[in-house]
Amino acid sequence: MNVEVKAAPAAVPEMQSQAPVITSIGIVGAGQMGNGIAHVCALAGLSVTMMDVKPDALDKAMAVMGRNMDRQVSKGTISAADKDQALARIRRSTDMGVFADCDFVIEAATEKEPIKHAIFKQLCPVLKPSAMLASNTSSISITRLGAGTDRPEKFIGMHFMNPVPVMKLVELIRGIATDEPTFQAVRSLAEQLGKTTAVSEDFPAFIVNRILVPMINEAVYALHEGVGSVTAIDTAMKLGANHPMGPLELADFIGLDTCYSIMQVLYEGMSDTKYRPCPLLAKYVEAGWLGRKSGRGFYDYQQTPPRPTR
Ligand code: NAD
Repeated sequence: MNVEVKAAPAAVPEMQSQAPVITSIGIVGAGQMGNGIAHVCALAGLSVTMMDVKPDALDKAMAVMGRNMDRQVSKGTISAADKDQALARIRRSTDMGVFADCDFVIEAATEKEPIKHAIFKQLCPVLKPSAMLASNTSSISITRLGAGTDRPEKFIGMHFMNPVPVMKLVELIRGIATDEPTFQAVRSLAEQLGKTTAVSEDFPAFIVNRILVPMINEAVYALHEGVGSVTAIDTAMKLGANHPMGPLELADFIGLDTCYSIMQVLYEGMSDTKYRPCPLLAKYVEAGWLGRKSGRGFYDYQQTPPRPTR
């Protein structure tokens, strides 16, 4: 009995020392999340490799990171030299082969499960055997995504918040097979990036989006049913609930396709009608009105200030 009690504390440092150290990071997808993750990793001194199927997404990501770092330079939180060195640490490619030397690859592509499975199928044969893998998915089962790889024990959910350089939280989600060294290595990485972690069980949409996105969906129902206009709903929640952004403005910021996919995952995963995606949200997505990233959603961003579209 005594032996067991004494042995337990020694096991913790030993386990932590087994956690691999991450120095080179790969990122699949150079959209709003991919560029934010690349931004914080490059500023933390890591070597970053970013891949996207669209070459123009890579160019846009570099331009966005440059502008966001300029803002940090003007605030004095980083120097101009930090910015130049960080941007120089980012390699770009449209080819998966570029991830061969990465210690850790984070998938941050479109929130559609078949796309993510296809990415891991292409990616796994390229990786070194010790490489760990994460998905930045907002809602999809980490266990299921991990099971589609050749290394479910080295697979984890690492869910950054948008905008990544500003938001402090990273949710960590273990799949059923995720091993402790992978969890420890990824938690250390999040801390190195200056983030606070919250651990979520592997349930649809985890913690933040389980609570946040149904609230957004409810706001779209309120709009759909004529309870209030876009402006009335956003003003009500900003001034009445002290939210920094109204729910429809926030939906445009996240991306309406992403919000819709999260609601579908919740609806199917929980088999509960309370998560039914609002038909008006589906209509906006079908129209290609995806929010800020496509220039129009619940607001039209070609107008200054952005004008409600209903
Ligand atoms: P986005 O639409 O801005 O970017 C997605 C990128 O993935 C695009 O550039 C697209 O070309 C690329 N892509 C698609 N298929 C690919 C493939 N096969 N290989 C490589 N790249 C591919 O989307 P986003 O908002 O950056 O979201 C990305 C992921 O992050 C999603 O899983 C989303 O749920 C999650 N996420 C989003 C937010 C948010 O607020 N938007 C927050 C946290 C997590």
